[in-house]
Amino acid sequence: MLEVILKGHDKFYGVSDVVRMFCGVPEELKDECKVIAPEGPDITLVNELLEDGRSVTHCDGKAYEFKGELLEPGREIKRSLYMALSDITSKKMPWGCLTGIRPTLVALEEQSPEALEEKYFVRPDKAQLAFETSREEQHILSKVPEDSLCVYVGIPFCPSRCAYCSFVSSDISCHMDRLVNYEAALEREISLVAPSINRPLSALYVGGGTPTVLEEKEFASLLDRIYKELKITPGCEVTIEAGRPDTISDGKLEAMRDHGITRICINPQTMRSETLQRLGRIHTAEEAVRVYEKACEMGFDLINMDLIAGLPYENADEHVRSTAKLIELAPANITVHTLYKKRRAAMSRDTVMDLEMARGKLDECVAESYRLLKEAGYHPYYMYRQKDTGHGLENTGFAKDDTGSLYNVAMMSDCRDVLSFGAGGMSKRCFAQEGELIKHRVERCPTIKDALTYIGRVDEMAEKKIQFFEM
Ligand code: SF4
Repeated sequence: MLEVILKGHDKFYGVSDVVRMFCGVPEELKDECKVIAPEGPDITLVNELLEDGRSVTHCDGKAYEFKGELLEPGREIKRSLYMALSDITSKKMPWGCLTGIRPTLVALEEQSPEALEEKYFVRPDKAQLAFETSREEQHILSKVPEDSLCVYVGIPFCPSRCAYCSFVSSDISCHMDRLVNYEAALEREISLVAPSINRPLSALYVGGGTPTVLEEKEFASLLDRIYKELKITPGCEVTIEAGRPDTISDGKLEAMRDHGITRICINPQTMRSETLQRLGRIHTAEEAVRVYEKACEMGFDLINMDLIAGLPYENADEHVRSTAKLIELAPANITVHTLYKKRRAAMSRDTVMDLEMARGKLDECVAESYRLLKEAGYHPYYMYRQKDTGHGLENTGFAKDDTGSLYNVAMMSDCRDVLSFGAGGMSKRCFAQEGELIKHRVERCPTIKDALTYIGRVDEMAEKKIQFFEM
């Protein structure tokens, strides 16, 4: 068992994040000032923060310390611990000692890929990716005013539950009655808050779950209500997540088109029907193509399609083939996710992930997908990491030309305020000191996750948001 003793600091979170990358899920023993990892090697390390701000990790008579520019203490302790664990396990991580979900913010601070490599041990291809993506994020953000607001409307219902799902989303085959009441509550929340909004809206994202799970009439009525109450103007970017192809009908496409919406997400996740079936998604790859072609025919020219690398029941080649098939379809955006597993998911990634992928092919196949995308003219425009993804990899959105989604960038970079409606939504306000490029202080206001409780307490949720935004 690995044991890390903290000395001169109490940054358990940072220590755990680095340990997790090398040795699996750690445990924090705060009374004993240590972090342990039962799956790690039998060794004890002392991770020390010195009074002058430097950090040294001691192990078996060796001292690991970075001799160069000092970082802030939270990063210093992670850096010396990473150096020790990398040496002990003979492993290097693609993102080096960066453990946060937004490597592009560090790229923005550092201003060069080389700095990421030297100071944080980031692999050159990832350093380049973070740097390139951060520049594109800044370009997209520069198109809208700082004080503009992004709005999220969440519908946490799906036609069936995917085996890897970790969201709070209800399967409508069991909860159809709830969906109808939920929509009424959601419309009520929007109408209670909307009159108080006193800022321009730059982006609206209707996500889930799967918003297109609503029946055609209800779906059109929700769009009407959103457009009317929020006074959506043509300059506002509007995206509808129509993630599951089996929920998209001509009628729903028409309703979106009639409202002037052209940005939608159709997410096959893989173009291999056998995988889809085994994952509990009740549609085929062919159905995804059919819906995509229909949407193109109807004039939707900003379509995003999602893929997940590392899905169970498929190997590296099969993932790369899915990327190639999407490239042939040529949607404006393709997002490549890496599978991650949270406790709520029905499956266990470790037991069902293809063995070849689990042994290290995942990193290679993600790199190959990126290569194909770049060759086809796509460039990365937003990126984030999640804990517990395979090999600590990232999720990256690729776009053709200038088609990257403002909402995705604003949401993931914590650079614009977000007002969320619906169960499980997270509203946030982002603050920067004068002259600072990066908004380091983020205040959050969560909405109740459970749909049933949300329905019963919707007035309270609306009031909470009005107060949070001081509207
Ligand atoms: S479509 Fe998304 S939210 Fe719905 S069950 Fe699948 S992974 Fe979960």
